Amino acid sequence: MGGTFDPIHHGHLVAASEAQSLLDLDEVVFVPTGQPWQKAERKVSPPEHRYLMTVVATASNPRFTVSRVDIDRDGPTFTIDTLRDLRAARPDDELFFITGADALAQILSWKDADELFELAHFVGVTRPGYELSESGLPQDRVTLQEVPAMSISSTDCRDRVAEGEPVWYLVPDGVVQYINKYALYTRPTDGEPTTS
Ligand code: ATP
Ligand code: MG
Repeated sequence: MGGTFDPIHHGHLVAASEAQSLLDLDEVVFVPTGQPWQKAERKVSPPEHRYLMTVVATASNPRFTVSRVDIDRDGPTFTIDTLRDLRAARPDDELFFITGADALAQILSWKDADELFELAHFVGVTRPGYELSESGLPQDRVTLQEVPAMSISSTDCRDRVAEGEPVWYLVPDGVVQYINKYALYTRPTDGEPTTS
């Protein structure tokens, strides 16, 4: 499951848990992006913070792990590189790439789409009622996975922290504590943390 995870929240975790259960996956590997080129307009928190929050959030689930492939690769993150690296590390595994259906529609419109489909099955998580036919996704190559409606976003979590509002129960307890410990998201919108 790819994402910026700035911060990881319960929407991500529910989506991953639903996909794991419905597809009977052995493992869900969370892959925090390196510098996401789609989000160049906003300053994304340092990769190490996003990686560690993802580790904290997933530590209690034996089927959840976190991969550093994207944060350890220089340059912007492209899904094709993520999948090539995961494939090289796990040559015998069947790979599923889970992400929001909105993000998938963008990913699969790119030039490497054919190779993407060879490397993995694609799973687009959606809120109930979302129509695949409106997404531009090839209906035969992508599984859509409805997850319970959860109107949680990382953007809202960052804005809440910046406004001094609580994020308890929107993100795991350990992530609330991590955000406080490193004073992440204390400035509105840009989310630049102190790293000392
Ligand atoms: P931002 O608000 O910064 O865009 P985000 O909440 O969308 O952050 P991302 O890290 O961009 O979080 O999300 C990773 C993937 O998880 C995306 O494909 C996104 O569509 C999906 N996702 C995000 N929030 C939810 C949610 N509440 N339920 C299900 N999937 C979600
Ligand atoms: Mg998003």
